[in-house]
Amino acid sequence: TSYGFRDVGAGEKQTLVNDVFHKVAKRYDIMNDLMSAGMHRAWKDAMISALNPRKSADYKVLDVAGGTGDIAFRIVEASGRLAHATVLDINGSMLGVGAERAAKKGLTPNLTFVEASAEELPFPDGTFDAYTISFGIRNVPRIDVALSEAYRVLKRGGRLLVLEFSEVEMPLLDRFYEAWSFNAIPKIGRAITGEAEPYQYLVESIRKFPNQRDFADMISKAGFSRASYTNFTGGIAALHSGWKL
Ligand code: SAM
Repeated sequence: TSYGFRDVGAGEKQTLVNDVFHKVAKRYDIMNDLMSAGMHRAWKDAMISALNPRKSADYKVLDVAGGTGDIAFRIVEASGRLAHATVLDINGSMLGVGAERAAKKGLTPNLTFVEASAEELPFPDGTFDAYTISFGIRNVPRIDVALSEAYRVLKRGGRLLVLEFSEVEMPLLDRFYEAWSFNAIPKIGRAITGEAEPYQYLVESIRKFPNQRDFADMISKAGFSRASYTNFTGGIAALHSGWKL
């Protein structure tokens, strides 16, 4: 397979992405720790604090591109194991790993796993109190479609939170990060999975993703109010927020 740095259509992009996550599913969690030097844990914790999930059994969250369940598990725990989280992902291999992890943690009663695309959510309008997506939206071929689906399935007063790699806003960190992502990440990927190309593709997808201001504009255009963002680690990642008012 070629993951060359060219522009591909939406369907082809989704096929490449599916291939990547199918291959890494079993090793995804360890890869995440190695490639982000463990930082993704602190960023995810900050996302859950920002969400501040209600400690109530009727609090419903949809975690899109939920993969192996990291965000959903944290939300359920932060709600005192009361809230319900739906983990949605296009990739059955990632969800399979997530369901196994959930069972080990005793969280199965609080979770539902759904295989579907962020671009076409199989839920009625106004279903959820919150929509979260962590390191997922840059993989979705049509981001504007995913954002309007997010808006549709949220209740009035519902919250959107998007955690994603973003534009590094500190000059020295910027250089270090470029070196890390273009050299170290594909090498770590190859050492663990035997292939470097899927990771080159992922690094490239980070570069192509809109910066903080442009992505906040996209969130507003999808109908959300009070679009705002917070940078983490100099902008390596950013947490975007919006409300359906
Ligand atoms: N949210 C998890 C986390 O933060 O660790 C997993 C993120 S992982 C980098 C990206 C996930 O996006 C993969 O599990 C992939 O299958 C999923 N994905 C890619 N395209 C998608 C789509 N169109 N709809 C839903 N999920 C998608």
